[in-house]
Amino acid sequence: MYNAKSSKAEEFINHEEILATLDYAKANKNNRPLIDSIIKKAKNMKGLSYREAAVLLECDIEEEIQRIYKLAKEIKQKFYGKRIVMFAPLYLSNYCVNGCVYCPYHFVNKDIPRKKLTQEQIRDEVIALQDMGHKRLALETGEDPVNNPIEYILESINTIYSIKHKNGSIRRVNVNIAATTVENYRKLKEAGIGTYILFQETYHRETYRKLHPTGPKHDYAYHTEAMDRAMEGGIDDVGLGVLFGLNNYRYDFVGILMHAEHLEATFGVGPHTISVPRIRPASDIDATAYSNAISDDIFAKIVAILRIAVPYTGLIVSTRESKESREKVLELGVSQLSGASRTNVGGYTEDEPVNEDTSQFEIEDRRTLDQVVNWLLSLGHIPSFCTACYREGRTGDRFMTLVKSNQIANCCQPNALITLKEYLEDYALPDTKEKGEALIKEELELIPNEKVRNIAIEKLRLIEQGYRDFRF
Ligand code: SF4
Ligand code: SF4
Repeated sequence: MYNAKSSKAEEFINHEEILATLDYAKANKNNRPLIDSIIKKAKNMKGLSYREAAVLLECDIEEEIQRIYKLAKEIKQKFYGKRIVMFAPLYLSNYCVNGCVYCPYHFVNKDIPRKKLTQEQIRDEVIALQDMGHKRLALETGEDPVNNPIEYILESINTIYSIKHKNGSIRRVNVNIAATTVENYRKLKEAGIGTYILFQETYHRETYRKLHPTGPKHDYAYHTEAMDRAMEGGIDDVGLGVLFGLNNYRYDFVGILMHAEHLEATFGVGPHTISVPRIRPASDIDATAYSNAISDDIFAKIVAILRIAVPYTGLIVSTRESKESREKVLELGVSQLSGASRTNVGGYTEDEPVNEDTSQFEIEDRRTLDQVVNWLLSLGHIPSFCTACYREGRTGDRFMTLVKSNQIANCCQPNALITLKEYLEDYALPDTKEKGEALIKEELELIPNEKVRNIAIEKLRLIEQGYRDFRF
């Protein structure tokens, strides 16, 4: 039986309920009165149920899809403005005891050299990331209790936060590691992590079992219930994701929204972020073998409907996507973007060309961070290096309350401009700097509160004088 508040995976991600939802969506395919009423409800910007979202996903009337896109753009604008938060992944180790068939780090793959960074090597990687201008990282590592125990992760987080190279610093470390115990989540919280990210890969239990034939990750329930344990351990910002292409996308789309509803119903806080990766080729992995691959159009539709279904949740797109694909979904609601990513262990200190044989997946967007920032500026977006909320204790329900009342805009806009200014002063090439300065000037005018605007102007002046790390 479906029960959003249950602590059991099979009840809060209920297979029969997902199938019934998909049947309902199919039965109502292109049912215009129903679609119109759902879009009308979505205009209140308070979200949609997974059932309503599934009806929109099933719709293929072009006019209705364009209305969904228009609303997604409006919601993006209302809650996130033109801001796009930048981050980079940092791979610590590719040792892994799991057998995930779609990932080259699965333990059976003998073609890739195994590597684990020492604290000294982490230092070098972090300096390379700081020298690009990054302030926010997502730590990635395989699951291996011997090579990558929790102590190693904690020590690495400590190392990362301790490095201050020139004007650089990493101010927020998000962590993407395997499902673990409440005790370990508590330790991660104490180490000062931002968001705990764990991709479900697929919500379809049988497919999940086949894709994860061996290792601890084989346990669907333990994996699916991880966010509940993270919450119990005190981590109140969690990030969901599925790997589109592994399973029927409609099923996983409903699954991820069901998971979001479960978190909201149980803990009063929905997911902080949702990631929407699509499967990519890699060593020992043939992405074309996955018949569930989704087209760019479906991908855009998924992003837009997620935007209107969970307006308070950040949407993340990585460098798995091409520049063109990222450009399209940025408009439709994506709020976080990785830039200049390396998806292999030690990749940031490697000389070009990067050895992709050891990458977790092939990167489609290979531009430098400055090129990505420049491109975003040209498109009228504000690249933001803001990490203020978690450092000000605005996490979990405190964060959500601010977002829901739309008060967060008073923090995000000035913080985006201040952190962009730091980037321009310390790392930007001349053309990027020129575009960025012009945008800051324009966007300052759009801070509604005069007092906040004046403080922001003062902080920008201080940054020019060499001061750093201001925040609202
Ligand atoms: Fe290991 Fe994660 Fe890759 Fe699975 S997806 S093989 S758990 S690194
Ligand atoms: Fe994110 Fe908070 Fe910064 Fe806004 S102020 S960009 S919500 S960290």
